[in-house]
Amino acid sequence: MSNLNDIYGSNVFNDSVMRARLPKATYKALKRTIEEGLTLESAVADVVAAAMKDWAIEKGATHFTHWFQPMNGITAEKHDAFINPTTDGNVVLEFSGKELIKGEPDASSFPSGGLRSTFEARGYTAWDCTSPAFLKDGTLCIPTAFCSYNGEALDKKTPLLRSMEVISKEALRVLKAIGNTTTKRVITTVGPEQEYFLIDKDVYDKRTDLILTGRTLFGAKPSKGQELEDHYFGTLKKRVSDYMKDLDLELWKLGIAAKTKHNEVAPGQHELAPIFTTTNVATDHNQLTMEIMKKVALQHDLVCLLHEKPFAGINGSGKHNNWSIATDDGINLLEPGTSPHDNKQFLVFLTAVIKAVDEYSDLLRLSAANPGNDHRLGANEAPPAVISIFLGDQLTDILEQLEKGGATTSKFAKDMKIGVNTLPPLPKDATDRNRTSPFAFTGNKFEFRMVPSSASIAGPNFVLNTIVAEVLSEIADRIEKSSDRDAETYAIITEIAKNNKRIIFNGNGYSDEWLVEAEKRGLPNIKTTVESTKALITEKNLSVLEKHKVLSRVESHARYEITLENYSKTINIEALATFKIAKTQILPAVFKFITQLATSINTVNATGLNVDVSAQGELLVEVSSLATSLKNNMASLEKLLEKAESLEGKAYELAEFYRFEVFEQMNVVRADADKLETLVDAQIWPLPTYEDLLFTV
Ligand code: ADP
Ligand code: MG
Repeated sequence: MSNLNDIYGSNVFNDSVMRARLPKATYKALKRTIEEGLTLESAVADVVAAAMKDWAIEKGATHFTHWFQPMNGITAEKHDAFINPTTDGNVVLEFSGKELIKGEPDASSFPSGGLRSTFEARGYTAWDCTSPAFLKDGTLCIPTAFCSYNGEALDKKTPLLRSMEVISKEALRVLKAIGNTTTKRVITTVGPEQEYFLIDKDVYDKRTDLILTGRTLFGAKPSKGQELEDHYFGTLKKRVSDYMKDLDLELWKLGIAAKTKHNEVAPGQHELAPIFTTTNVATDHNQLTMEIMKKVALQHDLVCLLHEKPFAGINGSGKHNNWSIATDDGINLLEPGTSPHDNKQFLVFLTAVIKAVDEYSDLLRLSAANPGNDHRLGANEAPPAVISIFLGDQLTDILEQLEKGGATTSKFAKDMKIGVNTLPPLPKDATDRNRTSPFAFTGNKFEFRMVPSSASIAGPNFVLNTIVAEVLSEIADRIEKSSDRDAETYAIITEIAKNNKRIIFNGNGYSDEWLVEAEKRGLPNIKTTVESTKALITEKNLSVLEKHKVLSRVESHARYEITLENYSKTINIEALATFKIAKTQILPAVFKFITQLATSINTVNATGLNVDVSAQGELLVEVSSLATSLKNNMASLEKLLEKAESLEGKAYELAEFYRFEVFEQMNVVRADADKLETLVDAQIWPLPTYEDLLFTV
């Protein structure tokens, strides 16, 4: 490998490239735009565009694209060549500031949740200069936000960018009110830990369900699952480690700081964590990471599965969204320091997050909902569907002290002794790990653990930013008005310690007792994506999103429609695939096996010898009756799908029908098929088994 320094960021039009290639004045103007959130002047854009084009062409690029993140959750790109024909039959390579700043892709085939029929089909992309341009497959990619003719957000990124401005503004007000005069801008930072599965491409190709839906719709429990927990942090197999090396390299070229990689709990499952960065860049990077994970896998004859639950009965995948809030002068506002109990700044921001999560837990829950995640949340592997916060002993103790009248000490754990003199004493963290908490304080950041593995992290982060901004604005309002600002600040912290303590839970989030306790505390337990969508249209949530101009009411309603529509479509595809696989692959195999058994019984009987054929006979009866049951259950599924058509146009009712009727019936069909898999001759069974899928890489 050549020098890592030369490789890292080599495909990014990053700060050092800009500094080297832009005239000083242009560079300064662009930097100010980026750092202070100012509007970019068109003269500056022209110069930047020319420099970008030259850089890209030198690196072999021929095209440029506005790279954006529509509501379907993936990234979109439409490539334009730099060429411009001249009258003498040649071409010049051009790229103007106008082309850099604005694009006009046709928006009509992207989900708009009704925004499109009300307004125009046209969509606009606008350069997000806070996320650097990069090269991918010979194309200069320009990160952009995507909106409608009237400026309504049609993408994941716009509300995120809006929310970052809002939280900066409100956090600055608070900082100023409590005496900070140096900070100019506040940013939220994110480091998403990405889980994924790797399976063999040949095996994958034989599973229509994986190809069409990203998850297995059939598959009996393997004889070996994850019970030995021998995969977690295990030695990487050569094929996997080769993959990871290539993946790291590709990510590093794009300036994505892939840092940690390891095997996860389930067989075939792995994780990649980058070093954290600002939220919008982290979001772009995570989208790119997912794309490149899939691409590099194919080069190794592997397939990377990002679905939240590719395999039943085995852990699914999620994303741990590590989130914090920092000042432009480098102070992490969630850093407790050495005496958190009298760290006013820390306590204000900590309690603001606590209050926000408590009061808007339904919005946060919605932000982590998708059809795949419904299989995980609340299902004894991922965090429960109830949102609570893990704070750990030290901070919980401080909040309790505050509640009782004032915090005077911070409990610190002693050094940990391992009992071997040659080993260094390990400083014990003030907070232990609690892997069962959906929202855990982990030292100097919060880790939101409910986020779906396949989804964009824009949603969870714009919600987090907005709800925390709202609480910060309430806090700022009070402190600004107060004559004794210090006393008021402590009054606010104490109030939150008292009033919002129901959200804090340090125990085992997977236990049944917690669900009972959570209900007593009045914490919502929203089990499905369908139900979670209601959070987007409650008056309280509509108004907080509107107040901070993160989503207008129209935009919120559009997102509500899109989420429901996406849910129904996903289950519809799964149901159709279930039906088709059962009909054209599983049943024919079962019939073949039945014929084989019957022939065998006849052949044995024909010998005229007194041979006991009862074992074959019993199996024949059992398989035949399961085949009948499967056939009947498939017929019921088909009827439900017909019925679903009559609900078209009623988004909520339709999604509910898919969840509670269609989805349930799919599981009934699957149960018969999975039972049959354990009875039918393995040579005849048409689908690669869970053993084949999980243990062949
Ligand atoms: P752990 O999960 O064991 O705490 P790390 O401390 O390495 O592991 O962090 C996990 C993820 O959290 C990494 O992606 C890391 O970059 C990110 N992270 C660390 N500090 C912050 C922060 N201040 N803001 C956002 N993410 C952070
Ligand atoms: Mg972690």
